[in-house]
Amino acid sequence: MDNGYHTLLVAIDCSDDSARLLTRATAVAANDAQLHLIHVIEPLALAYGADIPMDVSDLQSGLMDQARKAALRHAQAFSVPAERVHVELGSIEKTIREKADQIAADLIVVGSHTRTGLALLLGSTAKGLVPGAHCDVLAVKIAAS
Ligand code: AMP
Repeated sequence: MDNGYHTLLVAIDCSDDSARLLTRATAVAANDAQLHLIHVIEPLALAYGADIPMDVSDLQSGLMDQARKAALRHAQAFSVPAERVHVELGSIEKTIREKADQIAADLIVVGSHTRTGLALLLGSTAKGLVPGAHCDVLAVKIAAS
C-alpha cells in the first residue's frame, strides 16, 4: 500500500535550501504524487507603505519575472512541470495556505530556520502556517548558515 502524500505544496524562498525541501517532499510523496511549488512575493507597497513616493508596479513585475525564472529552475531539477509552479503576490503565510486549499494539498512542506536570541521572538513561517492550514505541514529543519 502506498501511504505517501498525494498533493504536496512546497513553499520555497528560492534560496539554495529549496533543493533540500524538494528532496524531503519527494521522500514522503506517494508514487503517483503531484508536487507543486509556490514562491510568494510580498507586495512592495504593502511592505513599505507610503514610504516609497513612486509607482513600484514595474519594479514589482520585474521581481515577479525573476522569481518565476528562479522557481522554474528549482522545479526543473525535480521534474515539476511549469504549470505546477505558482509565483504569487501576497502575504507569505496566507498565500501559501490559500494555494494549498485551492489545489487540495494533503501536505505543505516548508523550511524552518534555527532561531536563537532575539530572532526567537519573531514567529517562523512554519509556525504561522500550522494553525490555519487544513492539511499536514512538514517543517524541514534548516541549519543557520
Ligand atoms: P523561516 O524559518 O521563517 O525563515 O522560514 C523559511 C521558510 O519559509 C523557507 O524555507 C520557505 O519554506 C518559506 N518561505 C520563506 N519565504 C518564502 C516566500 N517568499 N515564498 C514561499 N515560501 C517562503
